[in-house]
Amino acid sequence: MIHYEEGGICPIMRVLAEETELAARLYSEAVVQLEDANERIDRARSAVNELRDRADVARIGLQEHLDSHGC
Ligand SMILES: [Zn+2]
Repeated sequence: MIHYEEGGICPIMRVLAEETELAARLYSEAVVQLEDANERIDRARSAVNELRDRADVARIGLQEHLDSHGC
């Protein structure tokens, strides 16, 4: 398997090195994408929770007013 070109670079090693570099870069990019997706999910979850609380407060306030005021 050992074969060296004129430049002294083994073609097999070059292919393996290129694949290693490419795979590592793609992996890093995928990690970044996953982190971004998780951040979006966290923000969406926070928004859902806040809006649920707001809806609950509004609904309870309306119900309490209806019960006490009779309007
Ligand atoms: Zn009223």
